[in-house]
Amino acid sequence: MIKGRSILVTGGAGFIGSHLVDRLVEFNRVTVLDNFSSGKMEFIENHSSNPNFCLIEADLRDQKAVEAALEGKDLVFHLAANPDVKIGAEDTRTHIDQNVIATYILLESMRKRGVSEIAFTSTSTVYGEARVVPTPEDYGPLLPISLYGASKLACEAMISAFCSTFDMRSWIFRFANIVGERGTHGVIVDFIKKLEQDPKTLEILGSGKQRKSYLLVSDCVDAMIFSQNSARGRVNIFNIGSQDSVDVTEIADVVAEKMNLKEVCYKYTGGINGRGWRGDVKTMLLSIEKMERLGWRPRFNSRESIEAAVEALLDRSDV
Ligand code: NAD
Repeated sequence: MIKGRSILVTGGAGFIGSHLVDRLVEFNRVTVLDNFSSGKMEFIENHSSNPNFCLIEADLRDQKAVEAALEGKDLVFHLAANPDVKIGAEDTRTHIDQNVIATYILLESMRKRGVSEIAFTSTSTVYGEARVVPTPEDYGPLLPISLYGASKLACEAMISAFCSTFDMRSWIFRFANIVGERGTHGVIVDFIKKLEQDPKTLEILGSGKQRKSYLLVSDCVDAMIFSQNSARGRVNIFNIGSQDSVDVTEIADVVAEKMNLKEVCYKYTGGINGRGWRGDVKTMLLSIEKMERLGWRPRFNSRESIEAAVEALLDRSDV
């Protein structure tokens, strides 16, 4: 439980950020800074009359706006980013601007304003094609195969350096695939959209055998809050995921079943060596032993997380 803090949440109008804000605003003062590039007002508008909640519509690369937003804050949850792994193969600049430069501006603004605690949402893609699976936090060398993974690793490195140089503290979360209500991107959203357009045929990127770990967003937010409150090191790095993995074809089966569709014909694109896209890691399963030692466990496994996410997303008409 995090209580009585004054917190800035960057990307707080996004999928994961809005769930985090729902939890933090119960016992803290929370300011969201978001440029609404992928975030949605409807995810946070239920807090608009809450005196503990404040919204700043701004871009993280606007240093003046960021410095003003940090006034009086003692903790930052930094989620704003471009999380689309695929675009890095066509546009090499976006992840540098939205992730690396934006994170640098935030850190520099924190240094200038004397805000010393940052919790950062990193990713399993920093491990690249790990030879050790489940992959622990101390695995190395870290050789990302996507520009997205590289940008997040660069952010981690900068956070670590700011912590050592300027007496700051950080919590770095390397997420598996996070799924659930308000999801706006990723494999489940993609399959639902495609099947709504054509209930008979489903295009599946890659071989369908890409096998990864999935975690429900409520478990993810629990883990972030729990570890920020419990781990006391200078740079605290944690994998956050479930203990198992599922393949893409199994996800297609769950989506089709929950949509009451029978005999959907799957068309695999084959991709490059079975990958869905350039930079797609084919096998991902994180070791969560470090989080378990701290006292946290996920409530749901990958299959259960996917089932719950599909149900929540099908309840929403505008997926
Ligand atoms: P999201 O796109 O829903 O949320 C990102 C939010 O940041 C959006 O509200 C967007 O409007 C905002 N934003 C983006 N660039 C901004 C900028 N320059 N200035 C201000 N606001 C900006 O994505 P999400 O899935 O909720 O991801 C949240 C974080 O978790 C991201 O950092 C992402 O890289 C990381 N992550 C997500 C997953 C996942 O499976 N969803 C996995 C690993 C890591």
